[in-house]
Order: sequence, then structure tokens, then C-alpha cells
Amino acid sequence: MKAPKFSYVRADSVEHALELLDKHGDDARILAGGQSLMPTLNMRLSQPEILIDINRLNELKGISLDGDTVVIGALTRHVEVLNSDIVSAHLPLVTEAMPYVAHVAIRNRGTIGGSIALSDPAAEMPACALALGATLVVQNSGGKREIPAEQFFHGLYETARAENELLVEIRFPSQKKDNVSVFMELSRRHGDYAIAGICAYGKVTGETIDDMRLVYFASEDRPVIGEHAIAALNGHAWSEETKDAVSAALENDLDPMANLNGSAAMKLHLQKVLTGRAMDTAVSRAGGTL
Ligand SMILES: Cc1cc2nc3c(=O)[nH]c(=O)nc-3n(C[C@H](O)[C@H](O)[C@H](O)COP(=O)(O)OP(=O)(O)OC[C@H]3O[C@@H](n4cnc5c(N)ncnc54)[C@H](O)[C@@H]3O)c2cc1C
Repeated sequence: MKAPKFSYVRADSVEHALELLDKHGDDARILAGGQSLMPTLNMRLSQPEILIDINRLNELKGISLDGDTVVIGALTRHVEVLNSDIVSAHLPLVTEAMPYVAHVAIRNRGTIGGSIALSDPAAEMPACALALGATLVVQNSGGKREIPAEQFFHGLYETARAENELLVEIRFPSQKKDNVSVFMELSRRHGDYAIAGICAYGKVTGETIDDMRLVYFASEDRPVIGEHAIAALNGHAWSEETKDAVSAALENDLDPMANLNGSAAMKLHLQKVLTGRAMDTAVSRAGGTL
């Protein structure tokens, strides 16, 4: 199919983009990498009046270190995040997750900001942002505001970003020195959206799990923190008994959406399997024995 008619404006500054967002509100869409937006238009799932192209806005690109915070511009391409030495040194979870984001051609154009602004429940970057306690910085013509990841993802393709706000950067706290992180997902083919996925981030002392955060994606309408599973995990040695307790607790955290990829029961089962594998890996990465 062909996209419906729309106007196109190439923004020549952030201020210009914000002016256009103020003027057109929900009738406008930001065009970043276009890897999700263009298929959506072509399938006529969305019919905006105007696209605001931000691709020439260099101030929205790049990765830098600000003290203990890794700052990633919203327009930074997935491939740049994947190949960044700063990201691999300070956010190994993101480096581990990035090869699972679509395929090479899509990662060459798609942006981390587009992925987080879109908020697909099966996407990897929103889950990483939640697991690592990132802050999303949005801006409108009145200024910037910071939104913790915990408050950003509201539901299926819904976020706390107002329609006149541009996501400008993502601020990730660097991984703490004595923490470990693990990313895992299951999909039908490599590069497909996940049918179950987990980000684990925290501390393992010997074989005891300490202050571990578990974030699940591709289950609910947004990435979720497995509060009950975490409560059953932290402070315990990683053992078959703990694994069973965490699996049982996870049933209180997740009520997966059934779709063409599988039933709710199958997806819950897969998340339990991933939790076990992720914690085995976390203990092993922390230098413990299994
Ligand atoms: C075949 C295929 C497979 C894919 N598989 C995966 C996958 O496994 N995992 C995954 O995570 N993604 C996957 N994607 C999506 C891909 O990662 C996209 O790049 C990403 O979702 C959107 O990034 P983008 O820069 O292309 O955004 P665009 O398509 O340009 O925009 C997406 C949406 O976000 C808005 N937006 C973009 N940037 C901003 C901003 N800075 N501020 C405010 N709003 C903004 C747009 O208006 C639009 O509504 C896949 C895509 C395809 C086509």
C-alpha cells in the first residue's frame, strides 16, 4: 500500500521542530529513522498531516559521558550505540541487547530515541531503560523536563511524552562496578520482535543475589518490573529452591498478552525459563559457581 498524503518539513533546529510540534500537535509526527513510522504510514495505520524530519539535527546525535551518566542523543542510530566504546564500558546491558534490535539494515537507520518514543512492548531499548533506571529528557518550546523510565512507559505505544514534546536525550546511570547485567530474549527468528524477554541488573555476592532488578518485556503492554519475583530473589542464594520460588512469584507480576506468537500461558512459561537462565548467567558472570 501507499502512504496517505502528508506534508513534510525538514526541521533546521530543535527550536524549529518544537515550533512545528506546537502548531500541529497530534496531527504531526516526528520522523527519526523512519523504520517504524514509514511502514505504519504505508499500511495506513496512522495518517498524520505533517512529518517533521529531525535527521539534520546534529545536536540530537551522539554519546557522551557526564560523570557517572551516559548521555545518548535521541537521534543516535542503533548501530552507533552498538559500536560505542562508552556504551560497552558503562552499559554492557545495552550492548548485549542491541544486536537483538531488528536487522542490520534497520539498525543502520533506526534511532534509540525512536525506539523509546514509540514504546513497542516487545522492544529491547525501553526494557533496558527501565532496568538501568534511565531518565528520558523531553523538550517543548517552554523548556526541558526529565522523566524517570519508571514513569515514562504508560501502555501500548503510550508514553508520558506530551504531543508537543520531543524526546531529546536518554540519560543512563553507568553500571555500578560490583553489579552484573544480563539480557536475554526469545524470538521466532533472529531480528524479529521478542516473544519473551528479560533484563536483569544487580549484585551477586558469592551465590547470593542482592539488589537485583528484573524487567520483563514482550509480555504486558509495556516493560514491567517483576516486583514479586524480585522479592522472592533478593537476599537468597541462587538454588533450585529459589528458582521455584521466583517462578511462582512471577505469576503475580505477569499476565502476558496472547498474540500470534503464543498464548498467555506459553509466554509466562518462557519468561520463567528466561528468568532461570538469566540468573544462572548473572551468578556465573559475578564469578560464582552454579
Ligand atoms: C522488520 C522490522 C523489525 C523490527 N524489529 C525490531 C526489534 O526486534 N526490536 C525493536 O526494538 N525494534 C524493532 N524494529 C523497529 C526499529 O527498531 C525502529 O528503528 C524503532 O522502533 C523506531 O526508530 P526510528 O528511529 O526508526 O523511529 P521512527 O520510525 O522515525 O519513529 C517511530 C515513532 O517514534 C516517534 N519519534 C521518533 N523519534 C522521536 C523523538 N526524538 N521524539 C519524539 N517522538 C519521536 C515518531 O514520531 C514515530 O511515532 C523493527 C522494525 C522493522 C521494520
